[in-house]
This record gives sequence, structure tokens and C-alpha cells, in this order.
Amino acid sequence: MDFTRLPHPAPAPGATRDQAIANPGFGTLFTDHMITVDYDEGKGWHSPTLGPRGPIALDPAASVLHYAQEIFEGMKAYKLQDGSMALFRPEANAARFNKSAARLAMPDFPEDLFVEAVKEVVLADKDWFPSVEGGALYIRPFMFATEAFLGVRPAKQYKFVVILSPAGNYFKSGAPAVSVWVSDYTRAAPGGTGEAKCGGNYAASLVPTGEAFAKGHDQVVFLDAAERKWIEELGGMNLFFVFDDGRMITPPLRGTILPGITRDSILTLAREQGLDVSEEMYSIDQWRADAESGKLVETMACGTAAVVTSVGKVASDGFEFTIGSGGPGQLTGTIREKLVGIQRGTVEDTHGWVMK
Ligand code: PMP
Repeated sequence: MDFTRLPHPAPAPGATRDQAIANPGFGTLFTDHMITVDYDEGKGWHSPTLGPRGPIALDPAASVLHYAQEIFEGMKAYKLQDGSMALFRPEANAARFNKSAARLAMPDFPEDLFVEAVKEVVLADKDWFPSVEGGALYIRPFMFATEAFLGVRPAKQYKFVVILSPAGNYFKSGAPAVSVWVSDYTRAAPGGTGEAKCGGNYAASLVPTGEAFAKGHDQVVFLDAAERKWIEELGGMNLFFVFDDGRMITPPLRGTILPGITRDSILTLAREQGLDVSEEMYSIDQWRADAESGKLVETMACGTAAVVTSVGKVASDGFEFTIGSGGPGQLTGTIREKLVGIQRGTVEDTHGWVMK
């Protein structure tokens, strides 16, 4: 599909662009293009457009505003050493997007069009690439139901959009160890939408995350909803547990956690490094016991935003424990360097993960 290029108003980003490049922060400054593609039942996806970023008019009855048919992805464009830009495993985001679409009764979005759309907008806004060390263009593809209809059934009209936000280094100086709060709230029930990247999951995580922040922690840990026993994931990251005998485990994908692309990449890298890695359930009680006995040496949290970071402290009502020294772990550092190196082109990409 060819994208129609709308005329761009005199590029007047000026100060905004200068600020975004020099001091991007996260998620508050946006580039000045966007992609839109529309869907009508019977007609399919049509009218792919690259145009100026701006407000989207919606009928007040648009079903996304009532029944939350919305899904999204989060990915980044990186700068390689030679100055060119690259995406990391964009087909994996496209595939996960369609899994989310299926769970939310939304139409499939062609995976090649997804990757093409992302490339188009990144190229259009390449001058917005942050100049700060570790900076990237954060890419937010999303899809929502636009049909004006108040009955509860899948909508017949949708819009796919891609916007970009210049992003700084997630951690200003190196990767510290984070402190996490184990919540009494749950994120996803068996049979629910936990493995879909839909807005509703994140709306439901705001109160538990707010509670973790209020108690002085960086992230929230969710336990499974059925037994309140098994560790699932953080509010926006997957977890890995590293033991003194070289074993490493991560919670299995049982439908209630987000299948992270960083998680999948770490599974591959760790196996290649000769680590004994498995997808295994791990309970909160065992986590605490193993941290206290010293059997557990590291806990890693991973996701697109922060790549890989160590969990140093874990707390909840009634307990608190430290992992290792409470600081950044060694294996976490090694894996982080390798993954960041692949993303930035300083470590050989033997898996075909980097798309220039
Ligand atoms: N879990 C949740 C709930 C998330 O929102 C994210 C971020 N997308 C992740 C895990 C990590 O996924 P990824 O490695 O694909 O960024």
C-alpha cells in the first residue's frame, strides 16, 4: 500500500524540536508527523496516510470511548554507530499487535503494513532523533474502534495510528537497581486480557502502581489472580530470576502476562550463553526464601523502555527483602550490554533482529 503524503504545514517545530532533541524526557514531547490507516467492514484497511500530527475527530458515540476496544504497541528506533537508524524486531511487535487485536475482537492489521508504517513515520521525523546518549525515538502504534454505535458488539470501523515521541535514556546514570512493591491488586485473571496489550489493562494498573509509588517504590509486582501466589510480572516489565547454580527462570506465558519482546530476546541470549534457562512458575514465598538464603543472586526486570535492570528490593505489607547486595547484578549488566550493543550495532546481530 502506498501512503498518501499530506502537505505538511510550514515546519515550525523550532523550540519544541530543539527541546525534544536536547532534553526529551519521556512521553510528553511528540514529533510532527503521524500515520493513519482506516478500516471499514467490507472494505478492509484503506487510505494509508502520512500527514501532520494533530487531533483526531471522533463521534461521541465512538465505541472506543465506551467499551475500550483499543490496543497498542511500544517500540523504539535506535541509532546505529554509523548514524543510520534501525528498528529492533518490528515484526515481533506487528505479530503481538495482531494477537492483541484478535483478543479484543478487532480486525487483523497486515504485518508488513505495520512495519512499513513505522518506517515511514520514523523516516519523516528522523530530524527529531534525540542527541542525548542512549536516546531513541519511541514509537507508539495503536488501533481503536471509531464506529458510532452504543450496542455492545465489535465495531465495524477502526483507525490505526502511529505517533513518535523522542525519548531520553531511561536511567540518567547507568542502570540502578529498582525497588518493587508486591500488590494485593491483581492485573489479569485466567481467561482475561492479560496477554493483550490493550489500554484497559493499563487503566486497571494505575491504582496499584500509584500505591507502589506512594510507598516509595519504583514499580509494582503482580501476583496471579487465582491463587495470589505465583509471580507474574511488573506493571510494565517481565521478570527473570537468577540462581547461584547458574539456573535462570522466568514465569511462563499462561495467558495472564504480556509476552515481552525483550523477555523473548533474553531467553535466546541467555541460552546461547550456556545458562540453564526455563519458563517456570515461581512463588512469592520462594522468592523471599531464596533471596534470604542467598540461593537467588539476581532478579532482572526487562522491557523496551528500560531494556534490563536489576530488582534490588522487594516489599509488601508484612515483609521486605533484599536481593544480593541490593545493587545492580552482574548477569543483568552482561545481558544488558549485549542487548543494547545489538540494538546500537556495536555487537554483531546474529539473529537478524535489527532492521536498518
Ligand atoms: N509487561 C508489560 C505489562 C508491559 O507493558 C511491557 C512493555 N511492553 C512488558 C512486559 C515488556 O514488553 P517488551 O519487552 O515487549 O517491551
